[in-house]
Amino acid sequence: MTTAPESLALLADEAASCTACGLAEGRTQVVFGTGAPDADVVFVGEAPGAREDEQGVPFVGRSGQLLDRLLAEELGVERSDVYIANVVKCRPPDNRDPRPDEIAACRPWLAHQLDLVDPVVIVTLGNFASRLLLDTATGITKLRGADYRYGNPPRHLVPTFHPAAALRGGAAVLADMRSDFGRAHSLMMAA
Ligand code: URA
Repeated sequence: MTTAPESLALLADEAASCTACGLAEGRTQVVFGTGAPDADVVFVGEAPGAREDEQGVPFVGRSGQLLDRLLAEELGVERSDVYIANVVKCRPPDNRDPRPDEIAACRPWLAHQLDLVDPVVIVTLGNFASRLLLDTATGITKLRGADYRYGNPPRHLVPTFHPAAALRGGAAVLADMRSDFGRAHSLMMAA
């Protein structure tokens, strides 16, 4: 039988040659995901930027540094203890927003990743991940501050701001993110 880590590695291999949408043409590489294949918590961002496209690892730029800091300060963990992925696995040109057709084409990869990692809590970072996994048009400012359910069997889903919003928006956004990370931590500890 194939174990979850093996299945995740096989899935990543398969995704590496994906041509399901036009983003395949401009990428350096597919940025599939990183971290512990059996993590209790999965973080889902939006899309790789230039640094991520170069290195093949999600959240390695400034947003990633803030994510790492919040992981350490609010969850007491390192990025290797959690799993981190994005809604779309290839860099949109000029860092534009991912388009609905690109998100739809990439969605099965994320769904499969979440099934295999099978976390206690999913933390969605920003509008794209939160709206996709909660199947809603409501924005992150309204969504955050609560605990939702995703999937079958149902897992906790905690929506919060994207780290880039905290880098732009300052102390209030960062304080809200700390509170949301704290909520995710409590849910993990209670499981
Ligand atoms: N922003 C994201 O949403 N994902 C990354 O991997 C990097 C920045």
